[in-house]
Amino acid sequence: MTTPADQPDPIRCTSTTRPHHPPYGTRVLEEDTGLIQRFHSGAYGSGWSVDGTTDARRPPAYRALLAATDGLAREMVELHRPEPDIVHGNDVRRWRCAGCDAEGCDWEHPEWPCRTSQLAAERADVSLREDHYTVESG
Ligand SMILES: [Zn+2]
Repeated sequence: MTTPADQPDPIRCTSTTRPHHPPYGTRVLEEDTGLIQRFHSGAYGSGWSVDGTTDARRPPAYRALLAATDGLAREMVELHRPEPDIVHGNDVRRWRCAGCDAEGCDWEHPEWPCRTSQLAAERADVSLREDHYTVESG
């Protein structure tokens, strides 16, 4: 994560209690859920929005892909990592690829797994199907 020089350094906090009034505009909160949230304030109001996540929260298929690759392939898998796209509560409903470059003016991040991730998975013989992984609880 990069922080422009004119902004304060993001604060990482693992507390489950959210501060209601951050001392300044932008701040990053990493809760026990693994979701990294950013406080924003502006003309349309203020609040927390999901900014990223920790590897532990990313899809099992992504973690399997990381484990199965090394060298350049692994670097490409890491670059094309999934980031939360649609979040309801603490549930990530859709992942977007953080590594695909923009094209056109009406561009949106493609859904993860993107074609690069699919190619890497195919070569590494890793399944990207969610139902091929059992999610540990707790
Ligand atoms: Zn991608």
